[in-house]
Amino acid sequence: MPSPYDIFVLVKQVPDQSSKAGINPDGTIDRAKAKRMLNPFDRYALQAALHTKRTYGGRVTAISMGPPLAVEILMEALEHGVDRCVLLSDRRLAASDTLATAYALHKVVRWCGNFDMIFCGLQTTDGDTAQVGPQIAERLGLPQVTYCEDFAIEDGKAKARRIIEGGTQLISSELPLLITVANSYHQLEYKSFRGAWKVQWLQRHPEELSKLVSTVDLDTIGAEPERCGLKGSPTIVAHTDKVGEIGGNCKMYEGQSIPDMVTELIKSTNIKEFVQTK
Ligand SMILES: Cc1cc2nc3c(=O)[nH]c(=O)nc-3n(C[C@H](O)[C@H](O)[C@H](O)COP(=O)(O)OP(=O)(O)OC[C@H]3O[C@@H](n4cnc5c(N)ncnc54)[C@H](O)[C@@H]3O)c2cc1C
Repeated sequence: MPSPYDIFVLVKQVPDQSSKAGINPDGTIDRAKAKRMLNPFDRYALQAALHTKRTYGGRVTAISMGPPLAVEILMEALEHGVDRCVLLSDRRLAASDTLATAYALHKVVRWCGNFDMIFCGLQTTDGDTAQVGPQIAERLGLPQVTYCEDFAIEDGKAKARRIIEGGTQLISSELPLLITVANSYHQLEYKSFRGAWKVQWLQRHPEELSKLVSTVDLDTIGAEPERCGLKGSPTIVAHTDKVGEIGGNCKMYEGQSIPDMVTELIKSTNIKEFVQTK
């Protein structure tokens, strides 16, 4: 009989990069104008959490910090099969850097209770620092496995394969631990019909929904406001630039034999000599 594990997964809502997010005059992202989505890297963390639950038993708690609209990604997580969700939302968190974000998130984790493992994405597509997971592990005094691409539990211990330069490394660790999941892990499975139906039903029954999705603020989780938001963020963004799209000067050679296309390509460049190889 497998032991039921308490599995946490951290998910963040990010601007959809296919939409045109504006930049505010102070250099911050105008998030209100951008379409929103679940951070693509967190899809792998979600898959790792759900796979662990399905294989060894347990329940999955999805945790996010963000504005009230971030509840959208928690509903998506519910559709995929997580059991409960917690959203930390508080205006005093605005302008948090990674130090303040990790501080606030580790407080939510503590507030949520006992856990055996925390899965995080490798990084986000907006902040893109890959610092939050490791900082939370440090604050909670947990062992951490970063860049994990395979995870299992054997004899009550975590077995993980992580990517290192030039190869992989096999790690064995006691529980609890924190894992940041690489994008070479398995793709997130499709939502089940049952999951989608459950969320639709919950949206029509707010009193039932509130049993599964809690929204908490800094006071609820006992976080010190001066360690959050701008006050708790030592990072200074000196300057932000909007990078324009760089159009490649690309010409396609088609419809001829390969030697003819190569000859034409060479003629169109400044290459003086051409060494023919097989
Ligand atoms: C000076 C400064 C001001 C900022 N102001 C704002 C602001 O006003 N509003 C705003 O939205 N952002 C703001 N940001 C960005 C935001 O604080 C960062 O995105 C945040 O610190 C997380 O860092 P990251 O995105 O690099 O995460 P990474 O370290 O790249 O994320 C790794 C993983 O950690 C987890 N994770 C990270 N963030 C969250 C989260 N919020 N909830 C749940 N899981 C998470 C996810 O699993 C993620 O895959 C600011 C950043 C700076 C430096």
